[in-house]
Amino acid sequence: MAVMAVDRFLHPFARPAKDDFVSIVRGEGAMVYDGAGNAYVDAMASLWYCNIGHGRADMAEAVAKQVRTLEAYSCFDPFTNPPADELADLLATWAPVADPRVFFTSSGSEAVDSAIKLARIAQVQAGHPERTLIVSRTFGYHGVTYGGLSAQGLPPNQAGFGPLLPDFVNLPNHDLEAMANLFAERGDEIAAVITEPVQGAGGVRPPLPGYLEGLRRLCDQHGAFLIMDEVICAFGRLGHMFASDFYGVRPDLISFAKGVTSGYVPLGGVVVGGAVREPLEADAGFWLRHGHTYSGHPTACAAGLEAMAITVREDLLEQSKHVGDRLAAGLRSLLGDGLVAEARGEGAVWAVALHEGQDPVAMRDAMLGRGVITRAVGTDTLTFCPPLVATDDQLDQIIDALAVSLG
Ligand code: PLP
Repeated sequence: MAVMAVDRFLHPFARPAKDDFVSIVRGEGAMVYDGAGNAYVDAMASLWYCNIGHGRADMAEAVAKQVRTLEAYSCFDPFTNPPADELADLLATWAPVADPRVFFTSSGSEAVDSAIKLARIAQVQAGHPERTLIVSRTFGYHGVTYGGLSAQGLPPNQAGFGPLLPDFVNLPNHDLEAMANLFAERGDEIAAVITEPVQGAGGVRPPLPGYLEGLRRLCDQHGAFLIMDEVICAFGRLGHMFASDFYGVRPDLISFAKGVTSGYVPLGGVVVGGAVREPLEADAGFWLRHGHTYSGHPTACAAGLEAMAITVREDLLEQSKHVGDRLAAGLRSLLGDGLVAEARGEGAVWAVALHEGQDPVAMRDAMLGRGVITRAVGTDTLTFCPPLVATDDQLDQIIDALAVSLG
C-alpha cells in the first residue's frame, strides 16, 4: 500500500491524511500566535483548559522551582511528596463532597477511568460485587481510554474501536424517567452513574433543571455512587471551584483535569468522597492496586498549586461570571439577529448551533482567518470557552469574528 509523505506527528482527533496544521508557537493571556506571526484570540482556552491564560511568568517560576528541587518521584507505597500532599489538602477543602481524599492522574481520561474503577472496587469492598453497571447519558464525553470511551454518549467516537466494555448503559440525555426505570429494574446492579454537570465536547449542553438533583436522589435511594465528571467545568468555568457547587449537588466522586493546572503541566485526578473511601479503608489489609507512574507527580502538583493560587489571587471565579455574561450577551444578540439557530451554555462555556446547511468546520476556519480560535463539534455546533483572563476587547472580537463569518 502506498504511504503518503506526511509529518511524523500523528495528530489526535484529526484526519491522519492531513498534514497542514497551524503551528502555535507562543501565547500570552488570551492570545496565541502562530509561526507566521498571526495573532489569535484563543476563544477555546486551547481545549477547554487554559483558565488562567497563556505564557505566565508566575507559572514558569513555580514549575522551574519544583524541577530544581525534585522534578518527579513515585508516589506508590511507601512514598509521597509535599506538592502532592498540599494540593490534595487544598482540593479536599474546596470540594463539595463529604470527607474527601484526592487521587491524582495525568489526564481527564485517566481521571474518569480511575473514578469508574474506584466506584466498582468500593462496591466490592462494601460487599456488593454484583454492582458493576456504569450508567451515563447521550452527548456525554468522558475521554478516550476504554472506560471513558465505553461511557461516552457520542457514537462517532466509539465507531471502530469495539468491542467496548460490558456493563455500561447509555441513556437518553436529560431523561430522568429512563434513569428511574433503569434503577427500578436493575438498581441493585448499578455501581455508579457518571455525568458531566454541563456537557462540553458533546456540544455545551447544560442540564435540565432538576436533572442532576434527580440523579443524586436515585443514587441515594438505590446505593449507587454519583460521579460528576468536572474535567471542563471545575476551577472557575462556572464561577465556582467545583461545578457541583454551582448546581448544589454533592457527588461521591469528582473527576477533574484541565483547569487544575490550566495545562501548564498535565494533571488530573479524582476527588473521592467518604462513601467511597470508607469501604476502601475499612479493611486495613486491603491494597488499592490502581495508580499511574505519575500519580502525584510533584512538578504537576506544584503547577496545580500555583494555578489554584492564581485563581484565588486574581479572583477568577468572579471574573468568570463577567466573561460568561459578556460572551452570552454577544451570542444571544447574534441569535436575536437570526444569525444562529441556538445559543446555549452556562457560566463561561457556550456554544451556538448553526443554521442548516452551514458547515461548522468551514465556519471555524473562517473565524481562524479572522484571528479567532473556536471549535467545531458535531454537525452544527461551534463552542466557546475563553480563558477567564480574556479582556472585554478580546471577548468582543470573538463575537465580531463570528458575526462577520456568519454574515
Ligand atoms: N471528561 C470530560 C468531561 C472531558 O471534557 C474530557 C476532555 O475533554 C475528558 C474527560 C478527557 O480528558 P483528557 O482529554 O485529558 O483525557
